[in-house]
This record gives sequence, C-alpha cells and structure tokens, in this order.
Amino acid sequence: MPHTVKFQVHDGTLIGARQMSSPNYNQRPEHTEIQLIVVHNISLPPSQFGGGYIEQFFQNQLDWSVHPYFQTIEGMQVSTHLLILRTGEVLQFVNFKNRAWHAGRSTYLGQKECNDYSIGIELEGSDDLPFEEVQYMALSEVTACLQQTYPQIQQHLAGHSDIAPGRKTDPGPYFDWVKFRQQLHHFKNK
Ligand SMILES: [Zn+2]
Repeated sequence: MPHTVKFQVHDGTLIGARQMSSPNYNQRPEHTEIQLIVVHNISLPPSQFGGGYIEQFFQNQLDWSVHPYFQTIEGMQVSTHLLILRTGEVLQFVNFKNRAWHAGRSTYLGQKECNDYSIGIELEGSDDLPFEEVQYMALSEVTACLQQTYPQIQQHLAGHSDIAPGRKTDPGPYFDWVKFRQQLHHFKNK
C-alpha cells in the first residue's frame, strides 16, 4: 500500500492542519529564510489538557476570569505557527510566511530574534508529564514536511529552553529528543 502523504505546505499553509487564525503575527524581516524549528510545550491551565483555552489564548479570546492562572497571563499577545493537541491533531494559527510570536528574547547559534527566522511548534503538554505517542508522530511527520519545504532548516531543531536558557524551560525534561529524531528519520526515508 502506498504511503499517503498526510501533510503538505501550499503558500505557507499546512494542508492537513486545522486552520485557526491568530491576530498575533507580523512580517518576517525582508530576505529572511526560514531556518529553524522551535519546539515548545503549553497547557492552560498548567498541566490540564483539553478545554480549548490554548486556542482561545492564541486568538486573544481567552476569558481571563475563568481560572486564577489566566490572570497571570492576562493581556499577553502571543502565537505559534502550529499547535499539536494531545489527540495528535495539528492546528495552524499563523502562515509560515509570517512571523509568529512564540520565542521572545532568544538566540540560536549566535543569531538573535529567533521569531524572525523560525517556525514555532507548540505541543499541548507540560514540563512534568510525558507527551502522547500520537504527538510525536504528528510532530515528526510535520517536521519532515517542513524540512522538505524549507531546506535551510536542515537539522536546526531546538527547544525553547535551548534558545532562551534561564528564561524558558519548555519543552521540558519529558520531551524525548531521541525518539523525535528517530521518528523523523523514519518519515524522511519513506
Ligand atoms: Zn515556549
């Protein structure tokens, strides 16, 4: 049976992802190539899954009064290109051609402002719980697709904690980089 390609990029849109739009983006600087993928985790409230609050947060539609934790992030305007839910479903909030607001103050291999030249992928998760197998599968398949579409990414895959050490801890100790790279290798050789 032939392998059916699940994801494809057309004009900065990931076909195969559910499209949700976030107002939190701007233009990448001129002549900037995409050359890095940044992996994150997020859960709202922390370590609780489902509920749709992350989606609302990235769309500036979160009701801050729903949970005490939400008041600590009230008014923050952030986004990501992709969010991978616990079910493995992939959501896209910002077109890859645009600059999403996920990395903040950051540096990768001496280059500052990672948002300028990276794609942000958030996994619904936390620093104290394992991720789901289906999330690794989706992340690997999407990453293989992005590496093919944006060849300068090559093996430039970093965690938020790698580009903002001391300030950020995600994707956290439960994120299994070895498993991710092994599955990625598998998808690239299909
Ligand atoms: Zn992060």
